[in-house]
Amino acid sequence: FAKRAADGKVHYFDAPQEQADAQVVRQRQRIQEGLALGEFFLCYQPKVDMRRGVVVGAEALIRWNHPQRGLLQPSHFVPLLEDDALAEQVGEWVIATALRQLHDWLEAGLHMSVSVNVSPLHMMRHDFVDRLMQQLAQYPKLGPGALELEILETTAISQFATAARFVQACRALGVAVAIDDFGTGYSSLTYLRQLPVSSVKIDQSFIRDMLDSEPDRAIVHGILLLLKALGRTAVAEGVETLGHGQALLAMGCTLAQGYGIAKPLPADQMQRWVAEFERAPPWGRERATDG
Ligand code: C2E
Ligand code: MG
Ligand code: MG
Ligand code: MG
Repeated sequence: FAKRAADGKVHYFDAPQEQADAQVVRQRQRIQEGLALGEFFLCYQPKVDMRRGVVVGAEALIRWNHPQRGLLQPSHFVPLLEDDALAEQVGEWVIATALRQLHDWLEAGLHMSVSVNVSPLHMMRHDFVDRLMQQLAQYPKLGPGALELEILETTAISQFATAARFVQACRALGVAVAIDDFGTGYSSLTYLRQLPVSSVKIDQSFIRDMLDSEPDRAIVHGILLLLKALGRTAVAEGVETLGHGQALLAMGCTLAQGYGIAKPLPADQMQRWVAEFERAPPWGRERATDG
């Protein structure tokens, strides 16, 4: 509808849209408040080597303990990070928290890597790598490879030049980069050749149905062959059952994450979970041979 403003001109605008915009602004402010109030925390989903029967790392996954709305999953607030400054604030908090956790685990004798999801706008910040370097400098005991960053395949494709610079610069710091949700980008695969990422996480949508769907199994197999030929490490996401793990192992994919292995865990449960998993790994038949 139209509104006559103080200057006498008539302004046309869409009230529902304005209300929605105002709500997004409020929600973003609420995220900043939540950060300051310590309402956010990270869960960690173990990433295991199914063949060796060991835990090699964990993916940090953000959660919001909202005082009114309860425990919020990322789908409720990660979309709101489509704002430069906020993406950076949340992203830096996640990296700082994950690094401190890695350090604490290392002190406790738990050796593993942690993967952090980097939002597209955070990745595109020109000073990302400088700031990452400053954060890493606080933990000189963390070896190279302890931190891995995940960028979405869709971002890697749509922001290819930035992504390529980002991957190079991270590598120079000893920080690995993985492509997340691989296979959802609906694009030519040739971009991978030019992007020196160390690993690629096959999207859970292909893994989920692979036991019942011959085409999905063929896609997973094809992706695994491609990654092997390109010298990249494959990680399967969404391994929901032992059978999924078995099928993946038979195709030569050894690294996996999924509810069938472990749901994302609070940090203080990790050490015990690792000990239990490694005592009786579900697929770890070859464990004794290469420890
Ligand atoms: P993602 O990075 O692909 O993370 C995997 C998601 O799949 C997680 O959901 C995890 O809990 C879930 N998942 C793991 N195994 C299984 C399984 O076997 N079956 C099923 N159905 N799901 C499984 P979550 O924690 O809700 O995170 C969703 C997405 O939110 C993440 O997808 C990631 O893109 C984003 N996200 C999470 N934490 C952060 C963060 O700190 N920063 C940013 N920028 N994004 C984040
Ligand atoms: Mg991820
Ligand atoms: Mg994923
Ligand atoms: Mg995802």
